[in-house]
Amino acid sequence: MDSAEILAIDQAHAWHPYTSTIDRDPVYPVRSAHGCRLELMDGRELIDGMASWWCAIHGYNHPVLNQAARDQLDRMSHVMFGGLTHEPAMRLVRSLVDLTPEPLQHVFLCDSGSVAVEVAIKMALQFWISGGRPEKHRLMTIRSGYHGDTFNAMSVCDPLTGMHHLFSRVLPSQIFAPAPLGRFGEPCSPEDIAPFAELIERHRGELAAVILEPIVQGAGGMRFYGADYLGQVRALCDRFDVLLIADEIATGFGRTGRLFACEHAGISPDILTLGKALTGGYLTLAAVLSSRRVAQGISSGEPGVFMHGPTFMGNPLACAVANASIERLLSGDWSANIRRIETGLSSGLAPCRGRPGVADVRVLGGIGVVEMERPVPMRETQRRLVERGVWVRPFGRLIYLMPPYIVSDRELGVLCEAVVQVVAESPNL
Ligand SMILES: *Cc1c(COP(=O)(O)O)cnc(C)c1O
Repeated sequence: MDSAEILAIDQAHAWHPYTSTIDRDPVYPVRSAHGCRLELMDGRELIDGMASWWCAIHGYNHPVLNQAARDQLDRMSHVMFGGLTHEPAMRLVRSLVDLTPEPLQHVFLCDSGSVAVEVAIKMALQFWISGGRPEKHRLMTIRSGYHGDTFNAMSVCDPLTGMHHLFSRVLPSQIFAPAPLGRFGEPCSPEDIAPFAELIERHRGELAAVILEPIVQGAGGMRFYGADYLGQVRALCDRFDVLLIADEIATGFGRTGRLFACEHAGISPDILTLGKALTGGYLTLAAVLSSRRVAQGISSGEPGVFMHGPTFMGNPLACAVANASIERLLSGDWSANIRRIETGLSSGLAPCRGRPGVADVRVLGGIGVVEMERPVPMRETQRRLVERGVWVRPFGRLIYLMPPYIVSDRELGVLCEAVVQVVAESPNL
């Protein structure tokens, strides 16, 4: 197909994320992707600043990941997981258990991040049902979060950006504490945790779990909050007998400078969700880890089995690529590399600070954010960024970078410079 044909079909029939079929956002046909570059069908090459939404940590078309997929393809791409098991999934299960804190001992493999969040919520609810406390059925979270687009996941997304009003008749109603005010690196003030502490105490009898994104709130606003706050949340969950679900679908696998963001606070959740970078951005796969206590609670009550089992559970092809991706990540000094990216983002985005229209500039690990005072005109800003040779997709008031970890210093410089330029032009957009 040529570019025109692709665009014609797209225009007539395809949905894209969060789009209308009438008022169409422009889309850019891409032919291939290598390393840190996307090649468009018109021949232009763009430096990728998004890692395809947190996923492609090793860049595109990586020879080692490609080989892992090919080798697995020649053995089997899929078999059902009911009654069967296999090496790719067991290697993955073992490394996830090894890499995460000691209490997390049981792994549920599933298809995508949102499904992982559904599974995590179902585990928390079934744990209390099995323990004879079915009244503990609600969830508590903090505002500005994002946990996916399925219904229970939506119910714990930020009520404003998550558009609760649209589905208010069907969404379960959950408890929302204010988003933490303290920034990453700052201690948590008593006033900051007080509303959370008050709500969890008041609702403890009906709360199954607290769910939140540790340290970095991603799609809900790219906010970075303090490890101390997270530590206090863990302590409050223990005190009031509420499970803690850490959603590390975005933060997992090094993005924040630690392998998992919970490590910043030295805590372990009762249930952990992983996704996005799990397969290095190759295939859709997610994992839910749970403590022995949660798994045993579910398994020893009625009906004694965990009621979930997706068709593509433990997909061997996805697991084989995930194993290669994790091996690849751990084989080098990934944390020094993230510090390199953090330094590059900090110095590269610094010129945005104090510019007209800029509300905040912040960097943590491999994430750089320029928050504007007003919503960024997406189409026009996107077009200008593409003209400058970079793939960066703003949303809301945010222009942000989270490049593949293989990004070179030079490419990082180009990415930051393009953001600095569009921010400088922004008052005229
Ligand atoms: C992206 C994301 C999800 C949803 O994952 P999908 O694979 O898009 O369903 C859930 N939680 C967090 C924190 C995410 O960043």
